[in-house]
Amino acid sequence: MMDVEHSGHRERVDGNAAGGYLLDIFGRDMTAARASCAQCDHEAALADAVAELDDAGVILLCRGCGHTLLTSLRSGAEQTLMIGSLTRLRWVVEGA
Ligand SMILES: [Zn+2]
Repeated sequence: MMDVEHSGHRERVDGNAAGGYLLDIFGRDMTAARASCAQCDHEAALADAVAELDDAGVILLCRGCGHTLLTSLRSGAEQTLMIGSLTRLRWVVEGA
């Protein structure tokens, strides 16, 4: 399932690899959350998005059209989250 390919200094993997970053931001496991793309209307679990990781953070790309869904950057104590073509994120709340 892991489709790892090295392009430049970034590692391109699937969204599972971004799980730790997302856990830091959202405080819960977001890999099963379903993300919709504003550009192409593709909806899939974040685990199925294309992720590019480097030392500065993670970029999640839509597998449907390649647009950036969101970018998370960390510089020292400063965390930056940039929303791209991510138009909707939904997940199941356990115990509800
Ligand atoms: Zn898309």
